[in-house]
Amino acid sequence: MSSAEIGLIGLGTMGAALALNIADNGFDIAVWNRTTQRTRDFHKAAGDLADRITPTESLKDLVAAIAKPRAIILMVPAGDAVDDQTAALRPLLDDNDMIIDAGNANFHDTNRRARDAGDLPFLGIGVSGGEEGARFGPSIMGGGKRTHWDRVAHILTAIAADHKGTACATWMGEEGAGHFVKAVHNGIEYADMQMIAEVYGIMRDGLGLDHHTIADHFATWDKGPLQSYLVEISGKVAAATDPKTGQPMLDVIVDAAGQKGTGRWTVIEAQHLAAPIPAIEAAVVARNLSSQRDTRAAGEALFGTAPHHIPHDTLSVDTLEQALIAGKILCYAQGFDMIAKASDEFGWALPLPEIAKVWRAGCIIRSAMLDDMASALQDDPDRNLMFAPAFSDALKSNHDALRQAVAQSALHGIALPALSSGLAYFDAMRTARGTANMIQGQRDFFGAHGFARIDGGSGHHGPWGSE
Ligand code: NDP
Repeated sequence: MSSAEIGLIGLGTMGAALALNIADNGFDIAVWNRTTQRTRDFHKAAGDLADRITPTESLKDLVAAIAKPRAIILMVPAGDAVDDQTAALRPLLDDNDMIIDAGNANFHDTNRRARDAGDLPFLGIGVSGGEEGARFGPSIMGGGKRTHWDRVAHILTAIAADHKGTACATWMGEEGAGHFVKAVHNGIEYADMQMIAEVYGIMRDGLGLDHHTIADHFATWDKGPLQSYLVEISGKVAAATDPKTGQPMLDVIVDAAGQKGTGRWTVIEAQHLAAPIPAIEAAVVARNLSSQRDTRAAGEALFGTAPHHIPHDTLSVDTLEQALIAGKILCYAQGFDMIAKASDEFGWALPLPEIAKVWRAGCIIRSAMLDDMASALQDDPDRNLMFAPAFSDALKSNHDALRQAVAQSALHGIALPALSSGLAYFDAMRTARGTANMIQGQRDFFGAHGFARIDGGSGHHGPWGSE
């Protein structure tokens, strides 16, 4: 029976949640999974929604169960699985049937797949919000032909998160634009998480606070300018106790952070675009470094433990809140600046205010600040966010706190890679006369690369003497 309005392949964590969300919003859906038992288990556990879900045990049956023109979501691991599934599916589809890759694809792959698809409908969409978001309302960043997006927009906006009546699902542009925006979202997520972890480190090691007190501070901050999903869950993580040992959960978790690569892709792409995103880069580096546990232990044995303890009268918890506000603004300013550069480079016309809006609910980086960011980008999408009045005022009020946090931590041996990179970015961005004149002098000295003079002209060379 060809009655399903949409199909879905891949009933893992995200696919199963997305399929239930689609059914829950009143759409009939047909599903298929590589391992058939998973399809059966999924359908059995679907409860009241089972009537809206058609489980199938072959790709042919899946295709037959969907009304024409068909649309089929792939929710499988990024990479070969997407190409393999596409290759298996295409011969069974009509020319106007659509494949939607909703996994975390590298946007270069999505560009290639869109070109390979030619006129065959294909979308690459970034879905953020983890399992809960997928089940109850994710943030969706679409890429591909606008006409193809419009064909399925009624389903995608219905299942997306809602922010005060606005669906968090938006078409970002052609080809891989949606997956690109999702990658930068993840880069910002890395930096936001890292900055929170760094402030947690100051509270734990510098100020000697116990995990309940730390949890209380995060909970308090979550009611102010830092209100966000990540600050909220950080408080909950800090509050949790290990049922096995009675210790704080944080004390029994190994300090080596995992990653699936989207942060790294963002950093690599930023280098190609010459987009300065030092806080995001520092966050990716910090994850890489975190996995070198044996080396860090050897370093501590060799160099000794840093003093760590920071006197309470030199750094208060309120100062840390202000430092985090400044750091967060700087990390988002970097992410949006990168998106603006990519928009020019790839000719995408990425809608910056809409991107801020689509991140306001459903996704991991949702936060109160994104409302003001959307307004600031609406006023002037070409201006770096740190120069928009709402954020320049906040930076003027809070950058000194960021400086205090970074300085005191440096004096006491606490590493703050993302916050200190954010501060260096801020200071560089407000220094009209920097030091690259020395770099240009060096380059001309050893390579005769030439330099521009302040009093006019380029291609000048210096009287350097012999090398
Ligand atoms: P899971 O590992 O939970 O599930 C993967 C699914 O893909 C399973 O149904 C699996 O089938 C199927 N699969 C794996 N390999 C193949 C293949 N070669 N051919 C066909 N099917 C295959 O992954 P997630 O649901 O977590 O992730 C799916 C996608 O969503 C990924 O791209 C991920 O990066 C992205 N994503 C994940 C988020 C998360 O929080 N987990 C958040 C946002 C995006 P089988 O049962 O046979 O193994």
